[in-house]
Amino acid sequence: MNIDALYQEIILDHYKKPHGAGLRDPYEAEVHHVNPTCGDEITLRVHLDGDTVADVSYDAEGCSISQASASVLNDLVVGKTVAEGMGLLDTFQTLMQGRGQVEPDEDVLEDGIAFAGVAQFPARVKCALLSWMAWKDATAQAVANESEDGR
Ligand code: ZN
Repeated sequence: MNIDALYQEIILDHYKKPHGAGLRDPYEAEVHHVNPTCGDEITLRVHLDGDTVADVSYDAEGCSISQASASVLNDLVVGKTVAEGMGLLDTFQTLMQGRGQVEPDEDVLEDGIAFAGVAQFPARVKCALLSWMAWKDATAQAVANESEDGR
């Protein structure tokens, strides 16, 4: 199996059996993001426990890349600190904006490496980044909400 076929297989697996899909309570922030160029949409909730990302729940519609990306995001950031999650976002974004020239690190990005193939297609990069941008937005709001509560 060549590397592109393997990447496609990983993306299809996440698309068919998305990890952590569905909207759950409790949560501190909810956002709705759309990718108009492809028609992808996501509603995403973040639940923080202090500095830890306790849950990321979502309802995603659209292409297999956008939905698989939300599943991988859930795998990667739940249980990490907010700072670690933001670091992963940076790493994933660097991969996606690398036009296929960035070598992904499987130890860091796990199944996220599968999107290295997508990075060669600029039109699809927004599909892969949609859930991550929604997570970044929701997490910033959740952190702001927590500090307003005096925590
Ligand atoms: Zn898409």
